[in-house]
Parts: sequence; C-alpha cells; structure tokens
Amino acid sequence: MKASLFLLSSIVSLVSAVSVPRTTEKVDYTGFKALRVTLPESSSELEAQIEELAIHVLNPGVAEHLDVVVSPDQVDAITALVSDTTVLVEDVGAAIAEEGELVSSDDEMSVQAVPQESWFTAYHPYADHLTFLRDLQAGFTSQSEIITTGTSVQGRVLTGIHIWGSGGKGSKPAVIIHGTVHAREWITTMTTEYLAWQLLTKYGSDATIKAMVDKFDYYIIPIVNPDGFAYTQTGDRLWRKNRQTVSSSTCLGRDINRNWPFQWSTAGGASTSPCSETYKGLAAGDAPENLGLRTQVDQLRAGRGIALYLDVHSYGQYILWPFGYSCSAVVDTNAAYRSLATRAAAAIRAVSGTAYTFGPSCSTLYATTGSSVDHIDQVGDAKFALTIELRDKGTYGFVLPANQIQPTVRETWAGFVSMVQDA
Ligand SMILES: [Zn+2]
Repeated sequence: MKASLFLLSSIVSLVSAVSVPRTTEKVDYTGFKALRVTLPESSSELEAQIEELAIHVLNPGVAEHLDVVVSPDQVDAITALVSDTTVLVEDVGAAIAEEGELVSSDDEMSVQAVPQESWFTAYHPYADHLTFLRDLQAGFTSQSEIITTGTSVQGRVLTGIHIWGSGGKGSKPAVIIHGTVHAREWITTMTTEYLAWQLLTKYGSDATIKAMVDKFDYYIIPIVNPDGFAYTQTGDRLWRKNRQTVSSSTCLGRDINRNWPFQWSTAGGASTSPCSETYKGLAAGDAPENLGLRTQVDQLRAGRGIALYLDVHSYGQYILWPFGYSCSAVVDTNAAYRSLATRAAAAIRAVSGTAYTFGPSCSTLYATTGSSVDHIDQVGDAKFALTIELRDKGTYGFVLPANQIQPTVRETWAGFVSMVQDA
C-alpha cells in the first residue's frame, strides 16, 4: 500500500462508520441468462409472473419489453409463458468476467498525484473512487474543494467535488451532476468522474473548457448511492437500490430515484412493493441518500440557482427531460429542452456514431414518479434537468466491458459540452 498515512487515515475516517452487511456471499451468475421478453398489450399479470421468476429486472418500467436475468432452471418456465423471447446475454457470469477485474489504486495510480487518463481504462473498488476525488482535488486546490452532502443508510458520506473558475468559489449558477444512483450502473461512475477530470485538468490548456468552468460552478457527485455501489462489488453485481430495510418485509432497498418528493404519491411510476426494483419507500424522501441530495439542491437553488442538472444512468442511450410522472403534462420549457437535447445527441453522434433517442421522460421511455429530474426542474427551479442513459442498448447492459469506458466517456463529454454551452 503506497498511500501516505495522511491519506489512509482520511479514507479510514470516511468508511469507519460502515457496518458489515449481514450477508457477504457473492451472487454467482455463471450460466444465468439475460432475456428480452416482448409482452402483449395490457399484460400486467403476466409481467408480475415473469418478475417473480426472474432474479433481476434490468429495465423496470418499460412497457413493451422486459429485460430480465434468470437462473438456468427458470428459462423454460419463462419461455412457456411468453413465446416472444430473445436471449440478450447467453451467460451473465461470463459477461461480468469480460467486464474486467477491479483495478485498485495500488496498481494503477501514484497516490497524491493528479489521476492519469489510464484511470478510465478499468473499473475500480469503492474506496479508490474516494481516493480519485481527493487526488484530483489536491492537484487544483485554488479552484476546487471536496464536498459532502449527507450520509447513506450504512454511514457512508456522499462525497463529491465542487469546481469553480475565474469568478471565484460560488459566484456562478450551479451545474449539478449525480452518478451511480442505481448501484449497478458502473459506467456512470467513470463518466461522472471523467467530466470532473476534464474540467480541472484541461482548464489551463483548452479555451472551450476554460469558458465552461468560468461560466458555472460545478457540483459533481460520482456515487450518490455508495452502499448500493459497494454491495455490487461484494455481493450482487446487479443490485440497483440503496440498502435500506423496511420492517414489513425481508426485502431490502429503496429506489432513490423514485423517492424525490415531487409527485411521489402519484400512482403508476414506481412500486409500493419493497421487493420491487423500483420501490418508492414508505414516505416521500425517506431515503437518507435522498435527503442528502435534496439538501444540496435546496442550498444551490437558494444561492445562485441551478442552471443545469444531469442525472447519469445506464443503459439504453437516451436523453430525457421532464415529465416522468405524466405522459400528457408538458413542461413549459419543453421547446428549449428539445433544442438542447437535439444538439447534445448530435455532438455525441459526431464523436463515434453512437445514436441517442431523446424526448420527455414518460412518453419516450416510461413513467417515473419521484424522479430527480421532475423534482429538480419543478422544486429546484433548474433551468434544465436531464437524465442521460449511457451505453449500450442491452448487449452488455450494466456490465459494459472495460474497453468501452473510454469511448463512452469521450462521446458523453462531447454531449455535456454542448449542454453546458446551451444552458
Ligand atoms: Zn438508472
């Protein structure tokens, strides 16, 4: 371990409150299949039966098809229920292996030097992501600081970085970026970190980036669901929610992105079942992680205001804006959103040909209640609040191979530059 005592102790103090999860056995996905099941119309009962048979639903909420992970002995039961079934991933265990080994900072980084671009060629353990932020910030102390906003269920501090330009700290409207609210979406951690890394390391050499940093204050939290993320590395690679208990059930976890107060009580865009991937919680905003994020949004709204909010997700290749809670309600800035998203999608496509679909969240993808973008547009009074669903379209889904990290972060950067210029 090359970390200095100072660094080591600061990391230990961040994670020391973490209690050990009750089960530490890792889910083995060898031989499990990812299936795309095309559903007939109005088939909610059938959908419930399939969800019961599956170990995970990968795209909860999508109406026309379900992507599910099933154990080898349940495949026949599902194909007996629905004839229109295709295999997305033949062996999920093999796909997870292909994603690449976790590379720790001991191997890849010289501690307390500014992280190098090679960071974006592998996935990393949770603790190393904190080291990444601290090392990046330590290289640019006059225009960045580490920020925290609240604590997770298991006591991990939600940790990010605040970046500012020539106007000085806190002088400009906010750009907020959140990553990894859904624990299994590992490409979003890497992408969110890349945006921060670009803004700081290229500020002095790239006029476009200098103009971006001088225009706004950036508040970037790469992992807003740290307990879930840690659990994807020690327990279940395909875990989505936080790790919060509810007394009425043995199932764990709230979907932090169905827990925001705006339109939380509206039916149809989240689940009231604690076992569901989209469990909304017992009350609006009752996930501690959501409280932390909400506190940040409230403070920035009351300060210089919020120019742009970006919630980074995978997979599907979508750029989405409000509303999620209703497919008929139209946000009054709809035309401005469409213009911004059109240009961002074109910028992404120009880098590598990757095609994004864009539109209002509910009518383009599916209904979501208690979502970040609805809340931050309406309650946070953000000029723009968008969700981006990164690569791919289901071939690898959440377990995008490490050799796709750099192509993904680079094309997403181009889309982000376009958004900032239009915000
Ligand atoms: Zn997500």
